Amino acid sequence: MAATAEATMRAFEYVRATGVREAVAAVTADPAAAFLAGGTTQVDLMRDGVLGPDLLVDISDLPLRGITGDTRGDGLLRVGALTTMEELAADATVRQRLPAVREALLAGASPQLRNMATIGGNLLQRTRCRYFRDVSCACNKRQPGSGCGAIEGFHRMHAILGTSQHCIATHASDLAVALTALDAVVQVRGSAGDRAIPLTEFYLVPGSTPEVENVLAHGELITAVDVPLPPVGTVSAYLKVRDRASYEFALASAAVALTVTGGEIRAARLALGGVATVPWRARAAEEVLLGTAATEAAFRAAADAAVAQAAPRAGNAFKVELARRTVVRALSSVAGKRL
Ligand code: FAD
Ligand code: SF4
Repeated sequence: MAATAEATMRAFEYVRATGVREAVAAVTADPAAAFLAGGTTQVDLMRDGVLGPDLLVDISDLPLRGITGDTRGDGLLRVGALTTMEELAADATVRQRLPAVREALLAGASPQLRNMATIGGNLLQRTRCRYFRDVSCACNKRQPGSGCGAIEGFHRMHAILGTSQHCIATHASDLAVALTALDAVVQVRGSAGDRAIPLTEFYLVPGSTPEVENVLAHGELITAVDVPLPPVGTVSAYLKVRDRASYEFALASAAVALTVTGGEIRAARLALGGVATVPWRARAAEEVLLGTAATEAAFRAAADAAVAQAAPRAGNAFKVELARRTVVRALSSVAGKRL
């Protein structure tokens, strides 16, 4: 890899938003403006010269922090976008009903970071691809049309699912993988009003435009994330495999939720992380599991289906088997808990 270039932080304007409407209007009006929440990703990328907004709109005073349970009778946990990772992990309903969410949160970053980092910012964090973060390297995501340093370079951490000839970077969020498996919905406010976007439709695979990572329009603000509470009897878990036990991103991960009655799998949800360009919902694997007995043979068949479309490269071919084993272990751990 090329030596890191001297990066200088560009001058920028900073404002503290006092209302949601003002925040959305300020960013929408300026194509080079960005929101700032906990700053744990945004500021790093600005320091490294990867991002250079001319205006930062700090949203941390907005009334978007907090978790409300099923008070509306809709079976949803509503998580304000400015709720911190640590607050969500500590929530009583999350502990009891959404263990996959709690495990994904606690497997990420460090306690100090989790106390600053918000849920909205977590979902919108950028890839950890080293070529993206080093401004001296070619990167189609950072600079469209410049090429991809990783494809012919060092790509041990990179994706085997959802890749294109233009980008093979993984999506870095653990939380997004758990929320994708659990059918969470992102609530968004834009200049044209509010909209709700299922997380399974929120992220975009790179294709020929890796710089476009999700369906948000410039200036749209995430206000909340709604997480459906699974039916009683559903058991969920998040398993993250990484090079070291803490402070490290996933090589492979799996979020699973199973509902089993009488030994038969009645509902199955599975998403993969660390191996795909977006949080990867493994629907073919879910279909394999549905209606079968919760056995290791079924889990192995599901794992095969989950990686059937994998397109590995020389440096990350090990991820195919790693992802398979991660899926089998995650499903077995859930089965061992209750089934
Ligand atoms: P910011 O840095 O403030 O913003 C991030 C991006 O989101 C910016 O583009 C910003 O404009 C945008 N944004 C923020 N909020 C909103 C909103 N409400 N609406 C629209 N746009 C918004 N994450 C993991 O999942 N797993 C890990 O293992 C992990 N390890 C980490 C290790 C380190 C050393 C670091 C620095 C980070 C790690 N992270 C990990 C990422 C961390 O979780 C994110 O940095 C954090 O969640 C981002 O939240 P933030 O509030 O700081 O966002
Ligand atoms: Fe850039 Fe994607 Fe290639 Fe990484 S994998 S260098 S993010 S284009």
